[in-house]
Amino acid sequence: MTASDIDRTLARAREAAADWSSLAFGERERGLRRWAAELAGSRADVVAVIRKETGKPAADAELELLVGLEHLAWTARHARRVLRPRRVSPGLLAAEHRALVARRPLGVVGVIGPWNYPALTPLGILAGVLAAGNAAVFKPSEYTTETGRALVDAFHRANPASADTLRLLAGGARAGEALCRAGVDKVAFTGSTLTGRAVMAACADSLTPVVLECGGNDALIVAADADVRAAARAAAWGAFSNAGQTCAGVERIYVDRAVGAEFVGALTAELARVRAGDHYGRLTTAEQENVVRVHVEDAAAHGGRFLVGGPESFRASGLVDPVVLADVPEDRPAVREETFGPVVVVRLVRDLDEGVARANAVPQALGAAVYSRSADASVAGRLRAGMVSVNGVLTFGGIPGLPFGGNGASGFGRVHGREGLLEFTSAQAVTVRRAHLTGSGLTRLRSAWWKPLALRALIRLRHGRG
Ligand code: NAD
Repeated sequence: MTASDIDRTLARAREAAADWSSLAFGERERGLRRWAAELAGSRADVVAVIRKETGKPAADAELELLVGLEHLAWTARHARRVLRPRRVSPGLLAAEHRALVARRPLGVVGVIGPWNYPALTPLGILAGVLAAGNAAVFKPSEYTTETGRALVDAFHRANPASADTLRLLAGGARAGEALCRAGVDKVAFTGSTLTGRAVMAACADSLTPVVLECGGNDALIVAADADVRAAARAAAWGAFSNAGQTCAGVERIYVDRAVGAEFVGALTAELARVRAGDHYGRLTTAEQENVVRVHVEDAAAHGGRFLVGGPESFRASGLVDPVVLADVPEDRPAVREETFGPVVVVRLVRDLDEGVARANAVPQALGAAVYSRSADASVAGRLRAGMVSVNGVLTFGGIPGLPFGGNGASGFGRVHGREGLLEFTSAQAVTVRRAHLTGSGLTRLRSAWWKPLALRALIRLRHGRG
């Protein structure tokens, strides 16, 4: 698309935003439910295009669509309650006013998507954008344009009168950057940390706000009192499903020494017959395959030991069998950076404290998981991650009421759930004078002689005692 195409697309979306935002919540909810039904009705086609573009097996593509639809349905249903105006106390100085916080849509949101979950990621974000009353211009990854088109086409079939509310922008980095500079009211970016920086820089010129959902490097901590077999099963799923191309996938495992041998045995057994092409798909892009290969070769060259797989795990055309590495120094890319492939590093640690310290010691802070029979939600308070599962991995991603997002190099802002609706609104403070009360003399320009005395007394009375 050329720059003038982008301008035209944005102009149409902006016009549509005015109509869409004036609809009642119930009408938007119905529109989004029709969209979900349309996607469910064309499930076979959507799944086929996801598979063609990403190389996922059928079950992964079906699961992706289902989770995306769950987010869409939850958000459509809850938008009214989450975004209704909230009364606040007017306080002493404005007692004769009613005070409330209204949530207003922003206008048009630019949504830039990744290729790894080309249906789930945009659905989870667009749900919040649209349910909050915004229009969207959606630029899918250039690797998954047709999946993006399938989502947008389904919206158009379900909502012909509001078709311009969701427009597709096809293209790669240049189109993404142009969208950031086009004058949208917010950019919701999902992708790598490197690109996230470029997006933020492009948006800085016009002070366009951004939400950045960037890469992760998630740790799983296995404590001495963990159900070790359950932890190994979860590790296999968290690290290898979707060929490890999951932003909040497990990339590092810190296991208490006391159960180290048992865990490694259970993980190895779990992966014994797992093969790329049967249990998960190929790596979607050649660039990604190269990153994975470089991380594995570097780890092996610096003392890393293969517990599962090895150089022979790299087969033809993006198929990579599971690789589990131990003894990789903590400063190597396989530990410090996002590998985003079917590779996981395991390290034995003294105790949970060391596991937590190591989990927190990388720049990314997206998700984290802890396996322990005695741990409760309080362990999450010790982790920098934006999302934590106790005795589960990635569980937070499938719960539509929970916010999704990270800290540090994993970005900022949240999508999904209540926070994912608030993210695409602005808070407007509103006061309305209550007719039945008389005005206070404290806020008049030409005020009475007693005003300084009254103010002095109030300061002393209300704040003097600490
Ligand atoms: P990427 O950064 O290469 O591309 C993401 C999107 O940005 C694409 O649509 C691309 O065309 C666009 N883009 C590229 N350069 C741009 C620029 N200069 N300005 C604007 N847009 C630009 O990421 P990817 O390889 O498509 O996706 C994989 C990455 O996404 C991984 O790092 C993964 O962890 C991350 N991810 C994060 C989440 C999350 O919610 N945190 C979810 C899924 C994926």
